[in-house]
Amino acid sequence: MKIPLFRPYSSLDLEALLKRVIDSGEWTGGVEVEEVENLLISTFNFPNFICTSSATSAFEIILDMYFSDVQATIVVPTNTFATTAEVPRRLGHNIIFCDVDSFTGMIDVTSFKKILENHNVDCVVPVSIGGHLYDRDALKKLKTEYGFRIVEDFAQLVYLGCYDLEIDAAFFSFYPNKILSSPDGGGLVVTETSLVNQARKRRLHGICRKSRGEYDIEFLGRKANMTNIDAVFLKDQLSSLSEKISNRLAIYQSYTQLLEEIPEVDFLALDNNIIPSLFIIHAKNRNELKYFLEENNVQTSIHFKPLHLHSYWNHEKSVFSGAEKYYSSTLSLPFFEALTKDELNYIISVIKKFYSI
Ligand SMILES: *Cc1c(COP(=O)(O)O)cnc(C)c1O
Repeated sequence: MKIPLFRPYSSLDLEALLKRVIDSGEWTGGVEVEEVENLLISTFNFPNFICTSSATSAFEIILDMYFSDVQATIVVPTNTFATTAEVPRRLGHNIIFCDVDSFTGMIDVTSFKKILENHNVDCVVPVSIGGHLYDRDALKKLKTEYGFRIVEDFAQLVYLGCYDLEIDAAFFSFYPNKILSSPDGGGLVVTETSLVNQARKRRLHGICRKSRGEYDIEFLGRKANMTNIDAVFLKDQLSSLSEKISNRLAIYQSYTQLLEEIPEVDFLALDNNIIPSLFIIHAKNRNELKYFLEENNVQTSIHFKPLHLHSYWNHEKSVFSGAEKYYSSTLSLPFFEALTKDELNYIISVIKKFYSI
């Protein structure tokens, strides 16, 4: 048995939906994207939604809107994917890394508070790990006190009611290995209603369409539109959403029950409302367990190697003890809605064998 970390899932209708788009000749720029935006708004109760080519491009648009003429100071938790720091750095902003909680892997409020006391922070980008929510209440409180923007990296998170109007903006990913998959895609939500149209224009070269086919460039935009092909994948994903959610929750519960017998392994309990996007464990002898699973054809991953340990960022001398502790013990196990009972039992049996249980 060979089990991948992730296997995308689609319904039987996908081919027919795709064929319709292909045959129509409208591969991009048609009604499909708008339809999916409306579907996302009604499904998850978003105030608005602007689909883009990726979470990365959605984040670029958000920072373009807030900080186009200034160099901002932006706080990024070090346990994240490349995007969260790459985008502000490319735009010339000043980045301060922040430590994370050693158990959840998400922003550590005490470390963030220390940064606030010593710097003039314009924006913080809390990151969801595995679909779990960071300590949003604590950050909202600090926002009232210090006055900075909160832009949420929700590439791994989406659930009913996940957006909070006290937050400034959030960006989402529809990359194949996320909760909602397309070949490539993402999107954003923004609280200030006056920015919704601006974001839409910035997504496609800052162009505003006028009458009689004329157009005007209003902003320095980007090429960040979603194609109709990607939109159709999303439509298909949303059509089987309740099944997708119940499968994910059931697999998370099964993992939880089966792993409870193994004292060397710990993991986060499932919060109400959320849809898990990864199954992450803290494991004793993590490296050896990872190799053992690989030898037995079970693919795993680590979310993430902290950014400050990567050679580009070259922050090796800085110490982020929470992130380093998290990085040394966590392991992401195969987790996707089409994971079978047999596959799950096999993974557990390999882990038990490793710990001689
Ligand atoms: C996947 C991911 C991204 C990037 O998403 P794209 O849609 O590929 O740009 C950003 N941040 C986090 C935390 C992610 O997991």
